[in-house]
Amino acid sequence: MPTQFFDRDLEEFFTQLTRHNRERVLEPPPAGVLDLCSNDYLCLSQHPRLVAALKEGIDRYGVGSTASRLVRGHRDVFTQLENKSAEWLGGEAALFFANGYAANVGVISAICDGQYAAFIDRLAHASLVDGVRLSGAQKIYFRHNDMQHLREQLVKSSAKKRIIVTESVFSMDGDEAPLGELVRLAQEYDALLYIDDAHATGVFGPEGRGLSPIEADFRIATFGKALGLEGAVVVTSARARQYLLHAARTFVFSTAPLPAVAYAGLAAIELARQMDSQRAELQANARLLREGIARAGYLAGNSTTQIVPLICPSEQHALALASALLGHGFHAKAIRPPTVKESRIRFSLNTSVRAEDIAGLLAALSES
Ligand code: PMP
Repeated sequence: MPTQFFDRDLEEFFTQLTRHNRERVLEPPPAGVLDLCSNDYLCLSQHPRLVAALKEGIDRYGVGSTASRLVRGHRDVFTQLENKSAEWLGGEAALFFANGYAANVGVISAICDGQYAAFIDRLAHASLVDGVRLSGAQKIYFRHNDMQHLREQLVKSSAKKRIIVTESVFSMDGDEAPLGELVRLAQEYDALLYIDDAHATGVFGPEGRGLSPIEADFRIATFGKALGLEGAVVVTSARARQYLLHAARTFVFSTAPLPAVAYAGLAAIELARQMDSQRAELQANARLLREGIARAGYLAGNSTTQIVPLICPSEQHALALASALLGHGFHAKAIRPPTVKESRIRFSLNTSVRAEDIAGLLAALSES
């Protein structure tokens, strides 16, 4: 008899979770505490102009798009958003997906096939890994941000076609990929370059254009984090966009997002473009936090961005610290294995956080 999913397998799964105190629960944001864990970096999710834009979009277009864009789900507003994204991010063309996960899985699995070797950073996001898996490409990890290791792997490979896949800002560590070197290696070894800019979109660069270099063949910008909505664009050549429109299965075989989201996306880009001073303050506060974490005797990894980990000696330590901080009015989450190797508090700052809040947080940290 095969093992039955609903009895033995699940029982073992939950036994393991309980043993390691790793059960997860779904809970809405606690009231009256400072958000230090969302990806709402520019606080656009509650911005009155964006809220109004989404409502106006619904008045214009109704709610659901009713079908894939290739059937009856398309509206001109999607093309407008794609054109505006391409113009904003300095690319030839863009294609909009329902979210970043769908973009990464759909695009990578459409680009690559069994002839490819995909060189992917060890800490790259699950959606990038899943895209590579689904593509049938040979998956070759390189050590996190280790360009020497990447070079060695490129030298060793005899694959006909190559692609390098990584993030610009890493979601759990807040460190940055060496993008200049990645561009050089991609050119030297004739590899495509795929950069997921999810945590840099709206946060870095002039007008919030992010960090991914224009030399990258595929650049992913997401609307679900700093832009306060949901969705993602891949920015690429017009020809590649046309190919993806036919071949990216998460695009072809999925109901188009709400047109109102695309309509609000136009407003989100306009808002984000004008926030250079808030972006500077965000990074100044992140620096204060990193310095305070070091003074408190903890490590903040290699963070150089608004995502700042506080590395903890154990899972229990991380859980107790998160709970103590919540008691002081700070909502930050403990992130533990298997999501990351070293347990940590992952602070992600947003533009509502003031320097005084960082001072209060550091005081709470020293008391905890
Ligand atoms: N890429 C990265 C680096 C991410 O951190 C995430 C979300 N955590 C995604 C892609 C997925 O994007 P979305 O949430 O829009 O599906």
